[in-house]
Amino acid sequence: MDLIKDIDIISPEEAKAQDYKTTPEENTGKTKKLYIESYGCQMNFSDSEIVASIMKENGFDTTADFEKADVIFLNTCSIREKAELTVRKRLSQFQQAKKNKPELTIGVLGCMAERLKENLLSEEKIVDVVVGPDAYRDLPNLVNAAEDGRKGVNTFLSREETYADIAPVRLNSNGVTAFISIMRGCDNMCSFCVVPFTRGRERSRDPHSIVAEAQDLFDKGYREVTLLGQNVDSYKWSPEENNKARLNKKEEEVSQVVNFAHLLEMVAKVSPLLRVRFSTSHPKDITDEVLYTMKKYDNICKYIHLPVQSGNSRVLEMMNRTYDREWYLNRVRAIREILGEECGISSDMIAGFCTETEEEHQDTLTLMDIVKYDFSYMFFYSERPGTLAAKKYEDDIPLEVKKRRLAEIIEKQNQLSFERNKLDLGKEQIILIEGTSKKSKEELKGRNSANKVVIVPAEGLKLGDYVKVKIADCSPATLFGEVLEINPALA
Ligand code: SAM
Ligand code: SF4
Repeated sequence: MDLIKDIDIISPEEAKAQDYKTTPEENTGKTKKLYIESYGCQMNFSDSEIVASIMKENGFDTTADFEKADVIFLNTCSIREKAELTVRKRLSQFQQAKKNKPELTIGVLGCMAERLKENLLSEEKIVDVVVGPDAYRDLPNLVNAAEDGRKGVNTFLSREETYADIAPVRLNSNGVTAFISIMRGCDNMCSFCVVPFTRGRERSRDPHSIVAEAQDLFDKGYREVTLLGQNVDSYKWSPEENNKARLNKKEEEVSQVVNFAHLLEMVAKVSPLLRVRFSTSHPKDITDEVLYTMKKYDNICKYIHLPVQSGNSRVLEMMNRTYDREWYLNRVRAIREILGEECGISSDMIAGFCTETEEEHQDTLTLMDIVKYDFSYMFFYSERPGTLAAKKYEDDIPLEVKKRRLAEIIEKQNQLSFERNKLDLGKEQIILIEGTSKKSKEELKGRNSANKVVIVPAEGLKLGDYVKVKIADCSPATLFGEVLEINPALA
């Protein structure tokens, strides 16, 4: 593969952004049809499930064919310039659909809507509604207005909205794994990142509604939930002041504060047969209490996504990540001490941030060697308007240099992934079967606790089975297992 040419779609997240997700065909007798394309991160996919639920209450079934739709929503991502360009290109492809059906309503939702607001209406003439991540309850009104020929924008950012009372309509579900959004927004101000501007202040969702959602999923046959937030380790909720942005009192002064470790425990107790994962952990916030809670429960998966972004302390300071190389490596040491070598660790990396020197780039590569990540999502820096970095620093690393550094990071990660996978050879592991293998219908795919994909022969197995396997072979990306036992006792 020509790494440099393919680099823009090299990371799984970027690949996902290309392969947007759509809605499935659903017919519950509603009169109108809704088609949603979701771009970007898991948080967006999870939000689309809330949007589908709100629209269902208001007379819409989903469709997988945009030509049958009365309403098309694009739930967008702004994290890198390329993500926004993809959406603009896609909008131009809907022009014919709008010509064929002038009453069609087209909406742009999510981060791009929040960032560009009413400008989107003038820049993209086919768009009728523009709705930010905290205003989805207003969608039915805005769609009604659009049907009467009035275009509408709602990009109000809330300090309270968590959509806690809305039961998401599961889209593209395998019936085994599901995402549960536990918080919204982000209070960190990483200088490269647009998220605090597009998703607003951080707020945590009522833990009882989270546990109820996990229980409901378990009762419906799901066997794994992933708790989602931009910074899950800063989850904090109390019945007195349920919004962290307003939590002015000291923690001791507020009764029954639920932190992330408590929440993990509450969800883990739903059933030993329900696996619990979470993402994303910020290195400055992940506590030993969380690591010990992970150790205490077999059904909390031993895998941590701990994005480092850069291995150099000066660059980390410019990124405003609020930790340095030393701090990060100490947290990794704590993970290894408490959870052992088998705990999976992954990262996000940004190559070619403003002023990064060759030596500083080398620090990222040496840090990767020390941590031995199982995998990483890897990007080159893309300046985003309005961010601290765009205001303060020149985007001075030439594109070719960014791409070359990124290629070196990717090559390093491929070596490390292969090394880490080889350590699993001969080991016995429990996997949860969640789908068919892309390569063959005769094979199924599951994940082990460390979040690695394990391929096994399909015979005698079905989705949702726990399987004890022996790892017989591996590639840099995948493990291959022999089935030892189906649904062994886990409780
Ligand atoms: N909250 C998570 C955290 O702190 O790690 C990350 C959320 S962000 C949606 C996902 C990743 O996108 C980041 O970790 C970062 O590596 C990458 N990213 C964010 N802004 C970027 C930018 N301007 N250019 C390149 N990559 C960026
Ligand atoms: Fe962006 Fe930093 Fe918040 Fe992650 S923690 S969403 S990178 S500002």
